[in-house]
Amino acid sequence: MTSIADNLATVRARIDAACLQAGRDPSEVSLLPVSKTHPVAAVLDAIEAGCTRFGENRVQEAIGKWRELRETHPGIEWVIIGHLQTNKARDAARFATEVSSLDSLKLARELAKRLEREGRQLDVLVEVNSSGEPQKSGIAPEDAPALARELAAFDALNVKGLMTVAINSPDRSRVAACFQRMQDLQARLREEAPKTSSWDELSMGMSGDFEEAISHGATVVRVGTAIFGARDYS
Ligand SMILES: *Cc1c(COP(=O)(O)O)cnc(C)c1O
Repeated sequence: MTSIADNLATVRARIDAACLQAGRDPSEVSLLPVSKTHPVAAVLDAIEAGCTRFGENRVQEAIGKWRELRETHPGIEWVIIGHLQTNKARDAARFATEVSSLDSLKLARELAKRLEREGRQLDVLVEVNSSGEPQKSGIAPEDAPALARELAAFDALNVKGLMTVAINSPDRSRVAACFQRMQDLQARLREEAPKTSSWDELSMGMSGDFEEAISHGATVVRVGTAIFGARDYS
């Protein structure tokens, strides 16, 4: 086994244990491996170990990997999880299966326009800034219901749920509070928002906090470092 296959097995076991602990069925939680900054060789190791979907922050990097793999591995799906500028919407609309970082009406409009031209649909999650930190992307929780109402108008966008990056803090209660806000918001949207979405997906939890996220209802955990190792940005 490669170390990536080993790491994947460990992460999957941790997900299962966290589900057990939370009284949840492990089939409710899916793992999104985050391959950003790592080479195609690492993605291939993960594919070998059974992964079919990958999270990437930057559209350009994701497109490069998609181009390299689309002939040999046509079933692989790419999920954009990083902040997406409107001028990159066209590129995302060409190949992504999902954008988990939808955070404005402007971006939704641009994506929908480009998707119609491509004759494609896109799954989207609304990214919420659950910690209130100014440097974080995502809309404020209180603004989510209004955006949810507007999103119902776009046929090319399948709104699946919510995404967040919790505060990075050694204080577990502050991390848990972020996840709790997301669960509360999900419940509110299920009551108030248009029925065009069931808001079932809650993408939250990363290498350092996915067990906590699972205990707060996460249905997708996005894990990079614990699978692929540390990132080198140099
Ligand atoms: C990089 C990234 C992850 C994965 O983070 P790790 O700590 O490496 O697991 C998850 N979500 C988003 C939005 C990211 O940018």
